[in-house]
Amino acid sequence: MKTRPPGLPQDLRRRAEEILRESDSQLPEAASPEEIKLLLHELRVHQIQLEMQNEALRSAYTALDASQARYFDLYDLAPVGYLTLSKPGLIQEVNFAAATLFGFSREQLRQQPFKQFVCKDDQDLFYLCQQQANTPQKAELRLQRADGSFFWVQIGATLSADGEYWITLNDISERMQMEETLRMSREKYKAVVDNSFDVIFSLTTRGEFQFLSSSWERHFGYTIGETLGNSYHHFIHPDDITSWAVYFQGILLTGISKTSPPFRVKHSDGSWRCFIANGARYAIADKEWLFIGVAHDVTEQLEAEGNLLQAKAAAEAANIAKSQFLSTMSHEIRTPMNGVIGMLQLLQYTELTPEQYEYIESAKNSGLELVLILNDILDIAKIEAGKIELERYDFDLRQVIAETINHQALTAREKGVELVASIDSDVPTALKGDPLRVRQIVRNLVQNAIKFTSKGSVALHIRTDDEDEQSCTLRFLVRDSGIGIAADKLPHIFKPFTQADGSTTRTYGGSGLGLTISKQLAELMGGSIGVESVEGEGSTFWFTVVLEKGDAIPATPDLPIARGDRKSSPRIRILLAEDDPKAQLIVPKLLKNHGYQTDVVGDGNEVLRALEAEDYALVLMDCMMPGMSGYEATAVIRDPASAVRRHDIPIIALTGNAMKQDVERCLAAGMDDHLPKPLILDDLLAKLEKWLEGGSR
Ligand code: ADP
Repeated sequence: MKTRPPGLPQDLRRRAEEILRESDSQLPEAASPEEIKLLLHELRVHQIQLEMQNEALRSAYTALDASQARYFDLYDLAPVGYLTLSKPGLIQEVNFAAATLFGFSREQLRQQPFKQFVCKDDQDLFYLCQQQANTPQKAELRLQRADGSFFWVQIGATLSADGEYWITLNDISERMQMEETLRMSREKYKAVVDNSFDVIFSLTTRGEFQFLSSSWERHFGYTIGETLGNSYHHFIHPDDITSWAVYFQGILLTGISKTSPPFRVKHSDGSWRCFIANGARYAIADKEWLFIGVAHDVTEQLEAEGNLLQAKAAAEAANIAKSQFLSTMSHEIRTPMNGVIGMLQLLQYTELTPEQYEYIESAKNSGLELVLILNDILDIAKIEAGKIELERYDFDLRQVIAETINHQALTAREKGVELVASIDSDVPTALKGDPLRVRQIVRNLVQNAIKFTSKGSVALHIRTDDEDEQSCTLRFLVRDSGIGIAADKLPHIFKPFTQADGSTTRTYGGSGLGLTISKQLAELMGGSIGVESVEGEGSTFWFTVVLEKGDAIPATPDLPIARGDRKSSPRIRILLAEDDPKAQLIVPKLLKNHGYQTDVVGDGNEVLRALEAEDYALVLMDCMMPGMSGYEATAVIRDPASAVRRHDIPIIALTGNAMKQDVERCLAAGMDDHLPKPLILDDLLAKLEKWLEGGSR
């Protein structure tokens, strides 16, 4: 409510009138012109002073107006809601902020009872505020908006001197929302901690329990109250204290969270439970920490792991025993097979009808097949025992592939299946590695492809997958147009003793070992193996191997050499050192048909005596013989001081199992070459040719 400025101030007015009154009373009677002049001058001065004061007052009022306008603006635009309530509680004045909070216009709010906006649950609180408002009051309560929703305010109430309530409203909805969220998250956290199966705990830097979740009581039977403040020393097993302390201090020092080693904690009944904890450092003040941990009971788990380890060890022992059994059995079976095949070979040199010859040929082939299976079983046993070692020497890839394919060509032709091989021109020829193992995989895949294809073709293709200065990764693909493999069987065919179809054995034979061996070999050579197949349409087996690039290819690698017919030339005398009576009988007879005269001795001592007495061209030396072994006999032969006639006589070892270490042992003992048993006549003849024509290792 603005009041206009009054006229001149009372005292000035009074003074002017006095002066006038004085002038009026003095003018007619005694005033001299000088006095009148002076009086008029005084009057003029007063007039000027009055005008100046009037001017000052005017500008003061203008300033007051401006400041009042500013005040109104501030009142209206303040972010805080202001209201004045009449004594009975009706809204008198309300600023924009308050109106905005309610969602009503200021006019709509005027003369409305304020309490109708207060949430019912908070009305008592508001009355209390009002009652005590002779001193300023504050409270937090909910008010209702025009749209019916509620919002939180901090309300301030003050009773003014003229009996009005001055009300301030601060919107605290956001804060209340945050507090609510915080409260809920605290409750959630508490629920998690209270219901955690693991023990959640905190320790002071001195190692005293500062907090424990209720699971502590469930796990250990101590109350939380009696535990808090105690050091972990009271609970952890004496043998585990040191490792726990190292762990605990490590986390406090570094701040790096990690898992503790297992530690035992004593139950109130005296038993021990085993725990592991995940701990972290938590800052509570500058350079002051708490250790926060979650301990998990692993007692049963450790017991189970222990049992599992025992079971694993037992299974491994059983597996080793199985591998040993396989190895021994196949070895034991091979020795008599040696006799059977040898006898059959001998029989083929006697007078036979063509029919009889065929029967023997068939029996011999079955024997040879059995030997191949035994070899596979030996390979598997070696792989499982981790005993397969790869050779590393120069070879000619194209030659190796040509031989492998030539070997299979006859079978393919007999079945009416076309067999082709191709090698990309960029595939290096001179390589270094284990050609026998490469050949073994190729042979397995090509043999299978021919076996499972009745018409169409089998194609081997070789290409380079990757290459650098020193090595190359080669990919071998064997594609056939055979029976294919059902999609659900594909993932299993590389597992031992697995065949795609139970009827495969009956129809096609086989042991289900070839692919397992091929897989292991490819992986040993840094590669892998796989197959794509459509049932009824054919399969493409592939494998990769990493091979070193070779420097040069040996002139004539250790491969079968074409043999001349010795029957017409003078007989060559060789010495067979062998304790097996069947071999003693068979080998000389077989060799006799090829122009060799074979003398037989049964142990190392006899070998030496024979070599002292006679001239021989070569010795076939069994390694394991009673009395003096083949190794010992060889050492004496090579000794220049011994009495044998020829210290450099070629010696070919006859080894039971062609394990790398056996072969190495033969060579180390001074022998020149080796042949695995059972002796295959063609292989034996090839070796004889080689060494009698001045071969070298
Ligand atoms: P084997 O041939 O001695 O049974 P393998 O391990 O070589 O053992 O092969 C396992 C199985 O995979 C075979 O029995 C056959 O079911 C399937 N298989 C392998 N090669 C082929 C192929 N080229 N075509 C169809 N099936 C094949």
